[in-house]
Amino acid sequence: MRFFGLIAAWLAILPSAFGWNATGHRIIAAIAYDRLTPHARIRVDDLLKHHPDYATILTRNAPTDPAARARAAFLAAAEWPDTIKGDARFWDDTRADAHPTDLIPGFPDMKRHTNWHYYDTPYAPDGAAPGHQDPPHALSELPRLIREISKAPDDLAAYDLLWIEHIEGDLHQPLHCVSRFLKSQPKGDAGGNGVILGERRNLHSLWDGAAGNDISDAYIAKYAAEAVAAHPAPRRIEKNPKKWIEEGFALSKSEVYTFGLETGSREHPLTLPASYTENAQRIAQAQIALAGYRLAAVLNDRLK
Ligand SMILES: [Zn+2]
Repeated sequence: MRFFGLIAAWLAILPSAFGWNATGHRIIAAIAYDRLTPHARIRVDDLLKHHPDYATILTRNAPTDPAARARAAFLAAAEWPDTIKGDARFWDDTRADAHPTDLIPGFPDMKRHTNWHYYDTPYAPDGAAPGHQDPPHALSELPRLIREISKAPDDLAAYDLLWIEHIEGDLHQPLHCVSRFLKSQPKGDAGGNGVILGERRNLHSLWDGAAGNDISDAYIAKYAAEAVAAHPAPRRIEKNPKKWIEEGFALSKSEVYTFGLETGSREHPLTLPASYTENAQRIAQAQIALAGYRLAAVLNDRLK
């Protein structure tokens, strides 16, 4: 139980560094799971059983009925790369002072890979010098994982599956596709984490939570059904992560950074109107439906 205490402690310090919260990731996975071909679903269900955390994290509180258990594991899998941010078995390879942890059989490495969750397309609306994110990042890693999963041995393919589920979802949160550079914020805002909306609230966390915070199965199923009904699958489903990032970047400009060049501060947080949050919720619903369709399309394609 020890690392759950660590997760709680970490959440208290950094409430905003996740992508979609657990709710968003689970809804995307639920939409995708319903759309897997019978063959891809059998393959996915089998791969998850090869993951070292299958019996623990992936099936915690899961139903015993085999089909319901497999679906529950697929939903939990989408959340796993966030879960390990507070898991003492893993270490943060982006910190110079971090100490590598011991390799556990079944994992390719024990890195938290916190920089795989996003790609910071630079946005410099007031002419500030745009920054640049070196790989590894979502744009380098997600295409690599998608290529690798079809031919990797089962242990590695299981690891890849969790990351594909997660990064694919994250990239449909527009703020995972951008960093805004301003003359007043020359190092960038880290996908809206640097736009302060209040005590432990910022622009990134507003968007992360735009699908709600309820992880009950009833809520997930209801949200998924409503999102799918409101946003039916397009005839052609885009499977190229680079295109997803371009769309997220375009949404950042048209729907996210619509409040001007302010960044807020601890002393003077930025206030956004209720209509801003309502629009974020509308965009999130459309993006979550799309993410579900695209995740299914990628897995159906790669797990033939
Ligand atoms: Zn993430």
